[in-house]
Amino acid sequence: MDLTTLERLPLWIGGRAVPASTTRYGEVTNPATGEVIRHVPLGNATDVDAAVQAATAALPAWRAAPPLRRARILMRFRELMEAQKKDLARIVTEEHGKTLADAEGSITRGIEVVEFVTGIPQLLKGEFSENVGSDVDGWSLRQPVGVCAGITPFNFPAMVPMWMYPVALACGNSFILKPSERDPTLSLRMAELLAEAGVHAGVFNVVHGDKEAVDAILEHPGIGAVSFVGSTPIARYIYETGARHGKRVQALGGAKNHAVVMPDADFDFTTEALIGAAYGSAGERCMAVSVVVAVGAAGDAMCERLAARARRVKVSAGTQPDAEMGPVITGAARDRIMGYIDGGVAEGATLVVDGRKPRVPGYEGGFFVGPTLFDRVTPGMAIYRDEIFGPVLVIVRADSLSEAIALINANPYANGAALFTRSGHAAHRFQEDVDVGMLGINVPIPVPMAFHSFGGWKNSLFGDLHVHGIDGVRFYTRGKAITARWPDDGSAAPGFQMPVMG
Ligand code: NAD
Repeated sequence: MDLTTLERLPLWIGGRAVPASTTRYGEVTNPATGEVIRHVPLGNATDVDAAVQAATAALPAWRAAPPLRRARILMRFRELMEAQKKDLARIVTEEHGKTLADAEGSITRGIEVVEFVTGIPQLLKGEFSENVGSDVDGWSLRQPVGVCAGITPFNFPAMVPMWMYPVALACGNSFILKPSERDPTLSLRMAELLAEAGVHAGVFNVVHGDKEAVDAILEHPGIGAVSFVGSTPIARYIYETGARHGKRVQALGGAKNHAVVMPDADFDFTTEALIGAAYGSAGERCMAVSVVVAVGAAGDAMCERLAARARRVKVSAGTQPDAEMGPVITGAARDRIMGYIDGGVAEGATLVVDGRKPRVPGYEGGFFVGPTLFDRVTPGMAIYRDEIFGPVLVIVRADSLSEAIALINANPYANGAALFTRSGHAAHRFQEDVDVGMLGINVPIPVPMAFHSFGGWKNSLFGDLHVHGIDGVRFYTRGKAITARWPDDGSAAPGFQMPVMG
């Protein structure tokens, strides 16, 4: 399938590309140029039902395949992804806008989840207790949930789906991916590579769309589990609606990640770390640092250094070899971010670096916002409260580590937080006292490796289990406990009381 020349993208159902039944289509743009590059079907309930039928039909054979066989198929998929990484990264950059190096890195982080689940026979091992009663044994095992669905955001078209489907498939489930309609093409390439690797037809399906397809997924009785990653209001909606329809749901939401800089930190090292964390991928990362909490003397030192470095960030199309930061995803996103910058000025914050008029020669039609830095921001301002999801970094001043921790803990988001310090004591306090799901100590974007689980707290995650790692295996499997005895003397007696150990 040559996806680059197709005007209208297909769906992927039952192991092949198929046209959608919907007549609604959306536009996919190249954010660096502003040009419409293809059209994406906005699937309806009929499209979702077709995917569920295919996924249901494929389930028995896939589930019956020994885990080691499924693992070997995924090992082949890993090889294919690795071999084609540069081509895949080009698709990410074309539709998302991030730099090629960043796109490639995100695919690598997705491949790491595949590497994790190639150990699925070990991860699916159950527990056994001999002699739980006289001549009675008890054991527990984990079985696939059935047909699972994933609904994913625009900012990581490879990595976020790969947090989900490799684990689901390895556990013996079939899967329906509803990728972001902003950058949908990579999901079809991954479907092709999964098929080439030997994943049975119907085990992995792609239905493009927007709210209509999402609602059809949430309401479909044939789907047992839904994983979602996106903004907080939609995450809450997915969690509540999915639960109301009897599904297990994990719904990861938005973020406002704080980095606390102590006066004893290495300011130059911290500046380099924070610049990448704030402005990399144009700030469109759920683990981007968007707030620097500068303690005491760190305030002036960090403001000066961050401003100097932010002014030097090379903004260009993600395909340009020297680009450090690309465009944001849409014209609407650019206008929203510009509105926040205007609002920050109006609310009295100090605008230290103004990204409202970026000059990107050759890409005048692109959706660019330059790196922006505010100082002396207070918690009541919208630029502090809201997730801007753009290249806007704000500095809040604090007098002590206690004040910084209290600020973080008062925030409704709780995805990631970082501390920059030379003090082990401060680091230990931070680890113990901060109510956030993922912490970095002198690490600005603490995204856990695939063999740990990824997830925030509070408004950054609705549900109990995080993605990938052991939590992912638990999410995509159901526990079953078995108690057994094999009497051979015919001495069965009626048991009217609650069975107890005897
Ligand atoms: P989004 O919430 O707008 O969209 C996410 C998905 O939900 C898409 O597939 C979209 O089609 C669907 N959707 C959108 N509106 C819907 C509606 N009204 N009803 C049903 N479905 C709907 O998010 P986005 O703009 O694509 O991505 C950016 C957001 O994702 C940010 O808030 C970011 O923090 C968050 N994010 C979080 C994580 C995390 O791990 N917590 C990771 C990546 C991104």
